[in-house]
Amino acid sequence: MLISIVVPCYNEEEVIRQFHERVDRELLSVRHDIEFVYVDDGSSDATLSLLTRLADEDPRARYVSFSRNFGKEAAMLAGLRHASGDAVVIMDADLQHPPELIPRMVDLHEHGFDQVITRRTRKGDRMTRTLTARAYYWFINRLVDVELVDGAGDFRLLSRRAVDAVLELTEYNRFSKGLFAWVGFPSTTFDYENAVRERGSSTWTFGKLLNYGLDGLLSFNNKPLRAALYLGLTLLTIAAVYTLWSVGDVLLNGVEAPGYVTLIVIVTALAGVQMVMVGVIGEYVGRVYYEVKDRPHFLVKATNTGAPAERRRPVTVGVGNPPSGLAG
Ligand code: UDP
Ligand code: MG
Repeated sequence: MLISIVVPCYNEEEVIRQFHERVDRELLSVRHDIEFVYVDDGSSDATLSLLTRLADEDPRARYVSFSRNFGKEAAMLAGLRHASGDAVVIMDADLQHPPELIPRMVDLHEHGFDQVITRRTRKGDRMTRTLTARAYYWFINRLVDVELVDGAGDFRLLSRRAVDAVLELTEYNRFSKGLFAWVGFPSTTFDYENAVRERGSSTWTFGKLLNYGLDGLLSFNNKPLRAALYLGLTLLTIAAVYTLWSVGDVLLNGVEAPGYVTLIVIVTALAGVQMVMVGVIGEYVGRVYYEVKDRPHFLVKATNTGAPAERRRPVTVGVGNPPSGLAG
């Protein structure tokens, strides 16, 4: 069996070598062949030159380098496309994903699991972070169709058929946490304690986390649109009742002037609700826009491995194709 280790790297010059040596050491106990697939996500530091040197020294190391920074999702996709292993382990370059877990993951895979998922415990995290994460996952699991698990990230092992299934999902907006959950197959999860980042710094900011959360919410189904519809209907019903009540009041008691505050509250609240709904619709339209453009997920600048077969949606026959016969 061949095991591929897929590693997205963005400005990881400080840890790459250490990562490679450490993983190599931990995998001595695994009696399978190993290959490393490093994806340089348009790093602006020496990551690429370190990777080329690594590939010269170690024939098992392969690399793909992007023309610019396309994001971790694109990097993981490229890694999966280039991986030729019978099982693929995806892990971060910063050694936050303990390599000593890989033998156990491989072992579980050999016991028949297509996905071996690791879940980091929130031990050592700030209280506020833990609580927001809990609340978020409680909420999102009520909305999306797949089960998203708090702490279960990208550090996981996928069998060949699970990888192929993920590669079938060619959507542009990739929320991999959900995509992995979506493909299913027999899966198992185990916990580990997160290590602190060895060197360099995390690229996550609060704003990015918020956007990530919204992506999760919007990239799976149209329930937010449904929710907007229900909210609109509820407001409409309340408005109808209130109108009847107001008209009745005028008929019975004559016209009275007050109501300025009520008016302002209603107008601003409704304007706010409408803005939110337009925003939700806009998000979906924006996603459709990106999907329709059908651009590649990434562009490769340099690689020491065969160019990936760009998996694209089958072209619809008809548009733009001259009728046969005219062509010649
Ligand atoms: N990464 C990437 N492209 C990016 C940002 C990050 O390939 O645009 C890689 C990064 O090199 C690392 C992994 O994704 O291997 C996780 O990144 P980071 O450690 O910054 O995130 P965190 O561990 O805080 O989730
Ligand atoms: Mg990290």
